[in-house]
Amino acid sequence: MIPRRSSYEGISLYSPPAVQCRVDLSDNTNLFGIPPAAERALREFTASTITRYPVSYAPELKKALSSYTGFEPSWITTGCGSDDLIDCALRAFLEPGERIAVPEPSFSMMSYFAKVNGLQFIPVPLRPDFEPDVDGLLATGARLIYVCSPNNPTGTGISLAALERLVDAAPGLVLLDAAYIEFADVSLVELARSRPNVIVTRTLSKAFGLAGMRVGYALGRPELVNEIEKARGPYKHTGLAERMAIAALTEGLSWVKARIEDAKESRTRLVAELKAQGLAPLPSEANFVLVPLPGALQVAARMRELDVNVRAFQGLTGVGDALRLGCGPWPMMEAALQALREARR
Ligand SMILES: *Cc1c(COP(=O)(O)O)cnc(C)c1O
Repeated sequence: MIPRRSSYEGISLYSPPAVQCRVDLSDNTNLFGIPPAAERALREFTASTITRYPVSYAPELKKALSSYTGFEPSWITTGCGSDDLIDCALRAFLEPGERIAVPEPSFSMMSYFAKVNGLQFIPVPLRPDFEPDVDGLLATGARLIYVCSPNNPTGTGISLAALERLVDAAPGLVLLDAAYIEFADVSLVELARSRPNVIVTRTLSKAFGLAGMRVGYALGRPELVNEIEKARGPYKHTGLAERMAIAALTEGLSWVKARIEDAKESRTRLVAELKAQGLAPLPSEANFVLVPLPGALQVAARMRELDVNVRAFQGLTGVGDALRLGCGPWPMMEAALQALREARR
């Protein structure tokens, strides 16, 4: 008999539809490309570095992240994407069987991470104004509460006051997923400094354009970071990913900041154009826009025939069917708007 975890029965692998389209707005990555400084680091990377192990807990990368975030290196841990850090945090702080509370809809990977760590996943619907339901989350009694702001897939954020109330009343930890915080007007990240029970996860996959290199990080008190590193283990980045991430965070930073502004400008224009098509997109603080649309799956399928890929959702709690469109260079947005118009005819 092959041993296996009974809790793994019924878990299926994450498999977003793999489609090739000329314009792909489906995964919220940086549609402008990668920082030229990161591309140089890629070209200049030498084969001799590959035969050696990288330094186990990435101290140079932590130093670069420290100057970007203002947090001391001892308050930072890094991982193979922020997905890795979320997974490690669940493993580090909760025993199998414990509860994790998560707003609904939010990051779809959370129910997966809960299951693979043997946790009870407790979804709590967003309020009608799309803010997390602080009282509902607290009422679960969960020792780990996850909040994503700006939230994927809605694009909406939590106010600082609501988040502070959640954190200060939480019986355990609050994990703030800030994958899109670069695109928001208010940064909530400082809460990881001022509160002992907050972990913030961030990533180089979205604003920094390095999704394929898998670099994420978490911010929090050193004693929290230390527990996550126990669950994480050493050598979580390739040496190449580390070099490219450092380049993006240092020499590449002005390029990244300019592209963030470009994405925000595209977002403003996209929202106006969607409204002009008679649609009612949700207010977004991220680099994507969610637009409720009955029959979104069929509309997205027709858009793919027109060579434009967007993410479609069916029956999202409190939203219904919807399309999520990433914000990038305006010609891509125009192609998407045109395809959407045709697909709805
Ligand atoms: C994309 C995304 C992430 C993680 O991305 P990584 O590539 O693993 O860093 C985390 N949270 C949310 C909400 C995301 O949308």
